[in-house]
Amino acid sequence: MPDKDFYQVLGVNRDASDSEIKKAYRKLAIQFHPDKNPGNKEAEEKFKEISAAFDILKDPEKRSKYDQFGHDAFRGGHSSGGVDPFDLFKDVFGGGGGRGGFGSIFEDFFGGGGGGRASEGVSGNDLRVTVSISLEQSASGVEKEIKYSRHLECSECEGSGSADGSSKTMCPTCGGVGQVASNQGFISIRRTCPTCNGSGVKIENPCNSCSGQGRKKSSDSVKVKIPAGIHDGSRLCSRNRGDAGPQKGPFGDLYVDVQVKAHDLFERDEDDLFHELFIPFTLSTLGGTVETPTLDGKVTLKIPPGTPCNKTFRIRDKGMPNLRSPSHRGDLYVKIVIEVPKNLNKEQRQKLVDYGLSCGEEDLSSESGILDKAKRFFDGDN
Ligand SMILES: [Zn+2]
Ligand SMILES: [Zn+2]
Repeated sequence: MPDKDFYQVLGVNRDASDSEIKKAYRKLAIQFHPDKNPGNKEAEEKFKEISAAFDILKDPEKRSKYDQFGHDAFRGGHSSGGVDPFDLFKDVFGGGGGRGGFGSIFEDFFGGGGGGRASEGVSGNDLRVTVSISLEQSASGVEKEIKYSRHLECSECEGSGSADGSSKTMCPTCGGVGQVASNQGFISIRRTCPTCNGSGVKIENPCNSCSGQGRKKSSDSVKVKIPAGIHDGSRLCSRNRGDAGPQKGPFGDLYVDVQVKAHDLFERDEDDLFHELFIPFTLSTLGGTVETPTLDGKVTLKIPPGTPCNKTFRIRDKGMPNLRSPSHRGDLYVKIVIEVPKNLNKEQRQKLVDYGLSCGEEDLSSESGILDKAKRFFDGDN
């Protein structure tokens, strides 16, 4: 018997994604499951075939070998017994089913096996929330409680979606896959099955409270630990805090986008902080000390005489903690901005005029004198 192409067996393209392969396998496995086709040798053969194909294609390493060498890649060590289909089911359906027979597959798939969610099934949506924190909170790390709404298991039916434990069958519209494809021109678009809302299951007597969804929109809250040193625009993920999947399907995840608000005093670049410090021109000229803010409170900065404008001082370890190793901190850069005095009184003004004269500069004692001079300059009379 010639070996059939594994991709053909599963009915997928050669570039199919892992999840497409899984989905295709699951659909076929349900269809040809010996449990559904008792005594049907053909179905059993087919079932073994798709199991063998899936065994190879689900494993990236085996799949790439198969892509390269075809069936020859596995001929050597392949025992006559072939692949054990039970093991494959455990892979896909999250285990639980014993080896005693084929009976457990539907229980596993539909989450009816008692205790816990099926690790397979249609998962709920991932959700996204934004949380805004201050620079100080980013520096120290902070725990934030986030209130949001998500689909949670319906309490009436405990997530099963059925009113009274009524029976479930495979959704006739999508054949249990949860998705239907529609062709629009050349493009095939997959969308959630409208009959079963993606669960792949038809419920005879759906729960009134959740219309058979097994889940309901509810308000919830989660405490998120935001680590010290986090940057604006970072995204955290809280596993299983998204929507519950329909009918006990797995939860989606919650993504938390962190916004670090702009600070009045500090600008941030990676782990370093920058601050513009305004000092009077007398201090920059004569030298002295000045207090400058840091995230940990004020520190005293020594200004040497003759400090020019834009001179930058580095204060070590007063920046932000490093996200990966919070004991390491960036530095704080303090840039000096020299304030030019305005609205001098008569006495102050005279002292500066005297200072200018002592430096051999022009006599600036009369304001009008300067303006006159400037006017003459621009008129070209100079
Ligand atoms: Zn319900
Ligand atoms: Zn359906």
